[in-house]
Amino acid sequence: MPVADEIDAPPALRSRLRKLGLERRDDLVLHLPLRYEDETQLVAIGDAPIGVPLQVEVLVREVSVRRAPRRQLLVEVSDAGVAEGNRLLLRFLSFYSSQQRALEVARDQQLRLRVFGEIRNGLGGPEMVHPRYRVLGDDQALPASLTPVYPTTAGLAQSALRKLIARAICTADLAEWLDAAWCSSHALPSFAAAVRLLHSPPPEASAVALQCRRHPAWRRVKFDELLAQQLSLRRAYLARRRKGAPVLLASGRLAKGLQAALPFTLTGAQRRVAAEIAADLAQPYPMQRLLQGDVGCGKTIVAALAVCQAIEAGYQAAFMAPTEILAEQHHLRLRAWFAPLGVEVLCLSGRLGAGARRTLQRQAAGTAQLVVGTHALIQEEVGFTRLGLVIVDEQHRFGVVQRLDLRRKGANPHQLMMSATPIPRTVAMSYYADLDVSVIDELPAGRSPVRTRLFSDSRREEVVAAVRAVVAEGRQAYWVCPLIEESAKLELQAALESWAALSSELADLRIGLVHGRLRGQEKAAVMAAFVAGEIDVLVATTVIEVGVDVPNASLMVIEHAERFGLAQLHQLRGRVGRGAHHSACVLLYQQPLSSTARARLKIIFEQTDGFEIARLDLQLRGPGELVGSRQSGMPLLRYADLEVDGDLVELAQQMAAQLLRDDPERVAGHLRRWLGCREELLKV
Ligand code: ADP
Ligand code: MG
Repeated sequence: MPVADEIDAPPALRSRLRKLGLERRDDLVLHLPLRYEDETQLVAIGDAPIGVPLQVEVLVREVSVRRAPRRQLLVEVSDAGVAEGNRLLLRFLSFYSSQQRALEVARDQQLRLRVFGEIRNGLGGPEMVHPRYRVLGDDQALPASLTPVYPTTAGLAQSALRKLIARAICTADLAEWLDAAWCSSHALPSFAAAVRLLHSPPPEASAVALQCRRHPAWRRVKFDELLAQQLSLRRAYLARRRKGAPVLLASGRLAKGLQAALPFTLTGAQRRVAAEIAADLAQPYPMQRLLQGDVGCGKTIVAALAVCQAIEAGYQAAFMAPTEILAEQHHLRLRAWFAPLGVEVLCLSGRLGAGARRTLQRQAAGTAQLVVGTHALIQEEVGFTRLGLVIVDEQHRFGVVQRLDLRRKGANPHQLMMSATPIPRTVAMSYYADLDVSVIDELPAGRSPVRTRLFSDSRREEVVAAVRAVVAEGRQAYWVCPLIEESAKLELQAALESWAALSSELADLRIGLVHGRLRGQEKAAVMAAFVAGEIDVLVATTVIEVGVDVPNASLMVIEHAERFGLAQLHQLRGRVGRGAHHSACVLLYQQPLSSTARARLKIIFEQTDGFEIARLDLQLRGPGELVGSRQSGMPLLRYADLEVDGDLVELAQQMAAQLLRDDPERVAGHLRRWLGCREELLKV
């Protein structure tokens, strides 16, 4: 960090600023107000509206301390400069005696007070509780601009922060990195004009437009922020693209064989994305593609077709899943698909003994064509000799570090990341700008929609009866136990209790139990029994959340559904409705519901489209959590709001492409301003 850019302040102050992420003058310039107060005008007490922030100028009439029911300082004031001005009571519930004395001096010497606050109707007439005020000295001019209110932290007063920022605005480099004509054609002011206005807006700049962040100055800052995000992510993308990767050329023989053996034909969307992937794999640089598609849209077969291409070209493929259960499932499914084609599928799972493990690892290093596993695949010493393609299923469940590990394996294999957490378009364009994105936007024909029903847990008996009815028809059911985030132990206990209760309520049915504490082998055995129809009701913790595919299961019961997030509920519900039977999802909830829990349940009840659910989730929570573990190390957007600023995301995307092509100097300047030394974090 160049010393010249450091904030000029004593160490104690600097450490408080650091808490706010403010290290450089540029950071201060970009530390923008939360809101504004209008101290540019005075209002007479008699004309003052109730409940609106405003400023009055007054003389002190009376200062008194009341002791009961609570000690408080009462200051009676009236309009200054008016003989019989209207009266107003200032009430302070906590105060210092020095404050009391200063106000008594103001009363005795008839000094003016400028008071800022909201008037309310008290018992004895109009009053302000804890207004901000200042005794006027010689400096009586009204401020010329609105007063900014900044996000701050303990021990850092607004006034101190204001001074530092005002100084930074004068001394920092506010150079313009964008073309002036382009800016004005998009109604965007210059950077310098925008930040000056946002830090000290003239009174006529509508405080409303500023506060709801639609003002052109706000739009300029949001655009710049989105541009910085695009630039850094696209730059990382281009850097990876300069690395070489094996060109996976294939005649298509394996893929044709696989498709011919399927009991279904691919949907149009599956064919389209399969072609996009096939084209990527034939390039001499690594594919970096995210395959998005709602639960059940059929991503696995698309991945399997990519595997065909890698194998036929003489390379190895690795298929990673976030959980053991899912890895097992994929192993079974892929083996059934590939064995007839003469391709061996290995599974490196936690349930292997050390000996078997070593043998497998040796094979993986040598002759294996397709290896399925959890992230153990990359963490352990599986040294692939010719790794050409890596598939990451349910990629949002993997952390940044795990993905980095992956990149270190093999010579830059092609990467296909899959996710069933649908992400609204603008979010994908923004947070996933370093990936190419393919979307499967079509479900296979013949799926009957899952009916969703909400039941208060006082009606649990009815739900148990529904389970019995479903099993009587030859179907199977999932019973998902409450999520207990604070404690895995409590979660396990709850699962055991549910299992015990259901086992006695449904004594004649076969009830299985699967939870995260089971060993790999035990988990696999239970799942295999459920797949084979030897278990009627599978009691489970959220370990079954992702990927599991048992088409005969037609009922999903979720206990304490109010504790789950929307994406999780949608994922869980996606476990049923995979066959041709009518399916249902019953959400058991416990009263009283918090307002967000209520909102979530309403959304999941009304919506079936994953993208729509994700969009509503975004409104409810903001994008940070939505993009999940990808976030670690990635600065969230502070100002841009992907719901309302979608047009700016598109503009930023275009501008980033142009700058990266033509103008490295501007790219560097812009990134320095916005990210400073933080850019390193983004090169994931
Ligand atoms: P997801 O996208 O959630 O991973 P899967 O790949 O597990 O979905 O597919 C869900 C189910 O749909 C599987 O049983 C799969 O065999 C089946 N399937 C996939 N594609 C089609 C299709 N085009 N027509 C009918 N069924 C399909
Ligand atoms: Mg899947």
